[in-house]
Amino acid sequence: MRYELVILGSGESGTGAALLAKKMGLSVFVSDLSNIPAAFRSELDAQGIPYEENQHTREIVLSANEIIKSPGIPEKVALIQELRKQGTPIISEIEFAYRYKGDSKIVCITGSNGKTTTTSLIYSIFKTDGQDVSVVGNIGYSFARQIAEHPTKWYVMEISSFQLDDIHTFRPDIAIITNITPDHLDRYQYDFNLYTQAKFRIAMNQGPNDYLILCQDDEATMQYVNLIQTNPKILYITMNEQLRGDGAYVTNNEMVLRLNGEPVSISINELSLKGKHNQYNSMAAGISSRVAEIRDTSLRECLRTFKAIEHRMEHVASIRGVEFINDSKATNLNSVWYALESMTKPVVLIMGY
Ligand code: ADP
Repeated sequence: MRYELVILGSGESGTGAALLAKKMGLSVFVSDLSNIPAAFRSELDAQGIPYEENQHTREIVLSANEIIKSPGIPEKVALIQELRKQGTPIISEIEFAYRYKGDSKIVCITGSNGKTTTTSLIYSIFKTDGQDVSVVGNIGYSFARQIAEHPTKWYVMEISSFQLDDIHTFRPDIAIITNITPDHLDRYQYDFNLYTQAKFRIAMNQGPNDYLILCQDDEATMQYVNLIQTNPKILYITMNEQLRGDGAYVTNNEMVLRLNGEPVSISINELSLKGKHNQYNSMAAGISSRVAEIRDTSLRECLRTFKAIEHRMEHVASIRGVEFINDSKATNLNSVWYALESMTKPVVLIMGY
């Protein structure tokens, strides 16, 4: 049997892509080299989508018109190399889902640290404003499943750089790169430049009416952006200067978000998320919300009341004057640095690997 679409990998994104493909009337087959988790298997069964586990049948995979590859499958796997060699198009789940997004809009967040916080903050601001919005990607459902089961007008999407590897036309209306510090370099031949390049793929299809939000205080970002040609309007966030043009900055304890020459200011003391790193996240979320024409009142309300997400500088308890904070999501040097920097009292750090 020759399928229009073969999906390699059956996690949330593979299964989501299968459900969307089925809904769109494509002949689709799911193939996984491991066990397919029971919950996903029963969804495939319910939709009558054929699949295989613990193997990839070469004839089925190699005869497909198109392949969706899970980002977890390394490029060096022989079957992938064979597909590339014979010219079978290989796309990611995000690229596939993008074909069916209709006239909805996308805010897409990537970067080394602060993705989940910034994504959740933006989602929460949009919700507070009453927008028809969903959160997809690394948090929430896969983009494909969300489109198949409950399409919305806005998608706020968190992605890691390797999810950008097999995009071809995917174009977010608003893209954010929070910052770029060495992480997961094993996937990029230990070449920091390749890693930076991978992150900037988020903007590769953007046009002059789209926005790219970058951190001006991030050395790697600035070095790279000065070398390349980009189409979108770039908005910088910074703590080091009062920007004269559009963008976001912090000065005299005020966060200023300026768009089309019009500033909106919010006192730093009013921000519910504490720490310098969260000021960056709040600036990124704030300026993208302005681009999306979210009302100032919703923006302020949310920035004032947003609760830290689990395991991210999360206040656990105060016992006899000692405050306990859970920051177990700080999994690289930069995030630990920012966490410690934001402390105002003596710290006992419990750290493990
Ligand atoms: P990610 O989704 O990129 O892993 P999170 O928002 O989950 O990022 O935050 C993980 C940890 O990184 C947090 O606990 C915090 O210590 C740190 N962090 C958050 N935002 C930033 C930032 N903008 N810059 C540096 N470190 C950050």
